[in-house]
Amino acid sequence: MPRPESTRVVVVANQKGGVGKTTSTVNIAAALAQLGQRVLVLDLDPQGNASTALGAAHSRGVPSTYDALVDGTPLAEIAVATEDLANLWVVPATIDLAGAEIELVSVVARENRLAKALAAHPAIGSAEAAGEERLDYVFIDCPPSLGLLTLNALVASAEVLIPIQAEYYALEGLGQLLETIEMVKAHLNPRLVVSTILITMYDARTRLAAGVADEVREHFADQVLKTTIPRSVRVSEAPSYGQTVMTYDPASPGALSYLEAAREFARQVSA
Ligand code: ADP
Ligand code: MG
Repeated sequence: MPRPESTRVVVVANQKGGVGKTTSTVNIAAALAQLGQRVLVLDLDPQGNASTALGAAHSRGVPSTYDALVDGTPLAEIAVATEDLANLWVVPATIDLAGAEIELVSVVARENRLAKALAAHPAIGSAEAAGEERLDYVFIDCPPSLGLLTLNALVASAEVLIPIQAEYYALEGLGQLLETIEMVKAHLNPRLVVSTILITMYDARTRLAAGVADEVREHFADQVLKTTIPRSVRVSEAPSYGQTVMTYDPASPGALSYLEAAREFARQVSA
């Protein structure tokens, strides 16, 4: 698989909880790493679910995204290699991050903290600038809110990936997310685009799921990946082993779908 011309920085956002943000972040990241890409996951949710899924320690005090945002510690110093896969690194999140929104209130340009941290990372950027060590993808896993943490991620990224769970209320609340993205585009980060919609926890046996998927495709057309992620027990089991489903059970339907979704995602040329 060819490497992108410069690092693709992707925010995985949806203020609704439980739609598959974290699961999609870690598994697409792992799939791309398996395909030979160099990938960094930034955990921006104080719950640290992405850190858990990637087997990274994230108890209070562990160097984390909190240190990058609040103290300006370089991300490259905080990132840890995953045991699972070569080419896959994670910047963990600890519960300390829950306080960051409040601690940053009085800081000037507080919505720019993560963008600054990424801009200072020596392995992020074009092939010429960053050399052999260059990262191909950075995925930022967001908390289920549109607060200052998600705002930092939207300002720091070029692309938004929105996971949508194939269920009845799927599109509710999406308007608010899209409005926030428009606001960020207009005032803080003009290059931001919604590049990818991923339908998760799809149950092909129900008419409801098919209906929701059709509706999502009507709204977003080309941005929706053809690959949908099925509901699969193996996907939900993997994190308790500190693994992604890509290594926990590579032949399972969930792993195969995430691999296909990752391939499709990599083929997209970002605007
Ligand atoms: P979010 O990060 O948006 O809150 P998660 O990725 O944590 O959502 O997913 C919510 C729950 O659904 C988790 O328990 C996760 O294991 C489970 N889950 C996510 N995707 C799947 C799937 N394809 N099949 C089965 N369970 C899933
Ligand atoms: Mg999550």
